[in-house]
Amino acid sequence: MTLRECERVVVIGGGMAGARLVQQLGAAGAHADVTVVGEEPHAPYNRVLLADVLAGQYEPDVITLPAGPARRLPGVRAVRVDRACRRVVCDDGSVLPYEALVLATGANPVLPPLRGLFTPEGGELPDGVRAFRTMDDCLALRREAEPGTQAVVVGGGLLGVSAARALARRGAQVVLAHQGERLMERQLDAGSAALLRLHLEDLGVEVHTECRVRGLLTQPRRAGGVARSAGAAAESRVVRAVELADGCILDAGLVVVACGVRPRTGLAGAAGLAVSRGIVVDDELRTDDPHVYAIGDCAEHDGVLYGLADPAQEQADVLARVLTGGTGTERYRGTRALTRLTLAGDPATTATTAGTRGPAPARLRAETQTEAKVRAEDEAPAARDPLDLAAFGDPLPRPDDDVVHLADATRGTYRKVVVRDGRLAGGILLGDLTQVGALARTWESDEPLTSEPLHHLLTRDGEALL
Ligand SMILES: Cc1cc2nc3c(=O)[nH]c(=O)nc-3n(C[C@H](O)[C@H](O)[C@H](O)COP(=O)(O)OP(=O)(O)OC[C@H]3O[C@@H](n4cnc5c(N)ncnc54)[C@H](O)[C@@H]3O)c2cc1C
Repeated sequence: MTLRECERVVVIGGGMAGARLVQQLGAAGAHADVTVVGEEPHAPYNRVLLADVLAGQYEPDVITLPAGPARRLPGVRAVRVDRACRRVVCDDGSVLPYEALVLATGANPVLPPLRGLFTPEGGELPDGVRAFRTMDDCLALRREAEPGTQAVVVGGGLLGVSAARALARRGAQVVLAHQGERLMERQLDAGSAALLRLHLEDLGVEVHTECRVRGLLTQPRRAGGVARSAGAAAESRVVRAVELADGCILDAGLVVVACGVRPRTGLAGAAGLAVSRGIVVDDELRTDDPHVYAIGDCAEHDGVLYGLADPAQEQADVLARVLTGGTGTERYRGTRALTRLTLAGDPATTATTAGTRGPAPARLRAETQTEAKVRAEDEAPAARDPLDLAAFGDPLPRPDDDVVHLADATRGTYRKVVVRDGRLAGGILLGDLTQVGALARTWESDEPLTSEPLHHLLTRDGEALL
């Protein structure tokens, strides 16, 4: 459909995709009547930069996104979509009629079935246990992570690595427990993951791979030094340790659960829309109801769930053109997204955290606080330069693929591309992103590569090969 003047658009979700859509509708001069229902109380913000807010590098207002022309309902949750009457019902009692409805509900953190995470009755997470998805999670972690706080991050994907690095920069003693063989398995190969691990260890993070967390140990929250009554205690628990599958116990005042995300599809499913792993959309980002669209982390296009910012924004851009008429042939063809991450070393905080590279990690040896402090002062490694990381596509070559691989252990850099059937299939840049722009363009265009030597993909003009 193309919006006509004053037609009502309701956007559920004021996150990165929803905010971008509103901005683009405004830029296209749409005269529609747009309302954004957003469960979070904050102005839209750049979620990708939450780790930098947690690390203290940015204040929250710095990552605010530009707001487009819309009526906003912050702190309001949409609870039902009545497709027959084309209206959205919200938890504050408001009822919002629409001609076009856009679901931009994002994703929820996955909370794995760890013993002690929930009580048998369900209820709240224990105090000190947090996911890392929202500004509120981030602000709470900022309050709770003090220098010396013993923190355990569960999960070594993009989120876990970002959280561990940010907590270390706040001076927390961080253990990162990752079940897989290497960090960021979706993006990195063994060599680059090993280098990333070294960089985290330089920041004072103790990294454990192939390490399964079995559960959390909690205790009743004490008010004024006295445990509350049994009933209240059941509701109010505080984490004290993490139990690993091999029986080791890690003391922890703070636990970040970073075990991936799952698209938020509940509203769509309850409204009878087609849902697979995400809300199923076609090339115009339309669901199986012609008046309802879905974009961002909640949407599944062509069997793909992206879970990344660039695709969310590209989908918003395409939908804005679809809704405003555009060229009449607007289509979303999928996004070839590049994942980027910056890990900045901060010598000041590194010196106050445990430098624990080596086979006998401090927290697993049940080191005392005093031992850790003394050893940290003696051994604190000099932090390396900030580490930039970009990864795309499939970094693991198949038998007939060509691979160009340049690693420099002294500079801590790692560059690799995989070429399949004359096209880029994947790549990793760690520590040296000089070629990232050119590579990203080549990757996004998916054009056959020219006959130039393949190492030119990774090197600047005239750069000597190692
Ligand atoms: C810490 C962190 C680091 C990340 N780093 C990267 C990165 O380096 N690179 C990258 O590409 N991506 C990264 N991502 C992922 C990226 O942030 C997401 O892909 C992006 O935010 C998706 O945008 P979205 O609008 O679909 O979802 P969101 O930004 O999550 O927005 C969805 C919004 O909808 C609201 N909502 C949901 N249901 C309702 C309802 N019923 N009523 C009202 N409101 C509702 C939610 O509260 C939320 O505000 C990161 C994510 C996190 C959390």
